[in-house]
Amino acid sequence: MKMSKMFVQTMREYPADAEVISHKLLARAGFIRKLTSGVYNYLPLMWRVLKKVEDITRDEMDKAGAQELLMPFLQPKELWEQSGRWEVYGRELMRLKDRHNREMCLGPTHEEIITSIARDGLKSYKQLPVNLYQIQSKFRDEVRPRFGLLRGREFIMKDAYSFDTTEEGLDKEYKNMAQAYKNIFNRCGLPTKMVQSDSGAIGGSLSHEFMVITDTDAGENDVFYCDGCDYSANSNHAISKLPEAVTDGGFSKKEIVDTPKTTSIDLLAEFLKVPSSVILKDLVYIIDKKPVMALIRADKEVEETKLLNAFQGMEIRIATAPEIEEIMTKHGFNAAKGFIGPEGMDDIPVIADESVKDLKNFVVGINKEDKHLVGANLSDVRIDKFADIRLVQAGELCPQCGKPLKVTRGIEVGNIFKLGTKYSKPMNATYLDKDGKAQPYIMGCYGIGISRTAAAAVEAHYDEFGIKWPIAIAPYHVVITPVNIQDAEQMKIANEMYEKLISAGIEAVLDDRDERAGVKFKDADLIGFPFRITAGKTISEGLVEYKVRETGVQEKVTPEVAVQHVIDAVKAAL
Ligand code: ATP
Ligand code: MG
Repeated sequence: MKMSKMFVQTMREYPADAEVISHKLLARAGFIRKLTSGVYNYLPLMWRVLKKVEDITRDEMDKAGAQELLMPFLQPKELWEQSGRWEVYGRELMRLKDRHNREMCLGPTHEEIITSIARDGLKSYKQLPVNLYQIQSKFRDEVRPRFGLLRGREFIMKDAYSFDTTEEGLDKEYKNMAQAYKNIFNRCGLPTKMVQSDSGAIGGSLSHEFMVITDTDAGENDVFYCDGCDYSANSNHAISKLPEAVTDGGFSKKEIVDTPKTTSIDLLAEFLKVPSSVILKDLVYIIDKKPVMALIRADKEVEETKLLNAFQGMEIRIATAPEIEEIMTKHGFNAAKGFIGPEGMDDIPVIADESVKDLKNFVVGINKEDKHLVGANLSDVRIDKFADIRLVQAGELCPQCGKPLKVTRGIEVGNIFKLGTKYSKPMNATYLDKDGKAQPYIMGCYGIGISRTAAAAVEAHYDEFGIKWPIAIAPYHVVITPVNIQDAEQMKIANEMYEKLISAGIEAVLDDRDERAGVKFKDADLIGFPFRITAGKTISEGLVEYKVRETGVQEKVTPEVAVQHVIDAVKAAL
């Protein structure tokens, strides 16, 4: 490809709305252009990268025995009613109507469609197991589509769905997919960590996420892991053993005491001279539009996904101050939010974290301004149920081996789930077993964010000058830069190297633009070609400059050697 003909406009500035490095660099280097919030044009350079990620994914999925198909982007409401998700899937689901007033949605995921395909086509145990996948655009009306391709509203996903007759079969396929995922991300030059995770809106019993570990803001997930063993989990699913703490408040009797102006946990703990671990904090959440109360030791935080799951809800948020005031008033109280408790709020479900069971003689709010109940015990507080709703904190102990847990951030690029019969049962999707009896399929589903993976690769490989694409997914492998295109000798050598590389199957670009060398070098670094060969003044000595983008290493070598270096490196990486 001649750079003079290439559709690429690099920009001097980052787009104003770009917060994370992949968004900044991909926009500035001319890979993507925003169409509207969370929706991007994939320009030619980006499309080459995406196709490579797709091809690697396709290759590994095919090798793992899955079969590719393509399902429609537009989905009818009826199937979503059969699975029961039409009502419960939140506002991420983009619903619309056609000219006949028929309700539809844009596919955020394809469990319903694939299950209906299986129902029509996989009628006998003899046809199973089967794993079907597609690579296609998805639409999710995300609340905060703010990270470029990392969190788009329209994005490209590989989604696979497996159908088995037994749990063992599903388990085998789950492991098969986990291995395929490791291969895919390794081949993309993107090391990942496989961590336990919550199964969320898709549902099911077991799930793991593939995380690109990063220390930047782009990592929207907290990942807890243990150095002592292989335990690692997303914070929405992580568990821990708590280190020793004071769990007995030491009050000699149960009584209501004055606690003036103790509107925060710190103020209350200081006033009562107790550690916060013996204060029971009461948080009000709104789950699917209804209030619930969550009780937790005040030195700990609530993990919202765990809380949501405990109520099998779809949407959760913390109650606002006006909402809490309204609840107080409705129940005949007028205390500030620091004094809230389950007392006298009989219509609001109360859930407590498991760790609350260990508390004795603790402190709890009773909806009276400037007062708390001290020396309370479990029988003094209305608790409807206990569950693990606690957010793990670094330093708490590994549930497997007891060593202190560490925390890091991760970008989720892939996710595998055991679905079981979550879709096949309600959708009545069955096959006939050996005895001719109808049985629901045992399903799994497996997703990879193709566009997110490409962006995550940028998060993992860049420097202050631009992107450093891993060779396997770089838009092109090498750029050949004649310093001065008016120099016939430089152009001759550059052209020869270019032809040789192309005929060796290398994806080469010749920067034949009539630009200053500095501009060309800057663009080459920004776009992130893994290799650059420069034909400049040293041509008179028979030498060119060979530069590796990843390491910054430069060498003066003959054109033949430079060409061979590139060929060898690319062959080794693919
Ligand atoms: P997240 O928790 O980040 O919202 P998710 O768990 O909802 O993602 P899945 O339903 O598991 O996502 O989808 C499979 C894969 O699709 C994810 O692992 C991720 O790589 C990708 N993906 C999901 N949402 C987006 C998005 N908004 N933009 C780009 N990729 C996405
Ligand atoms: Mg996920």
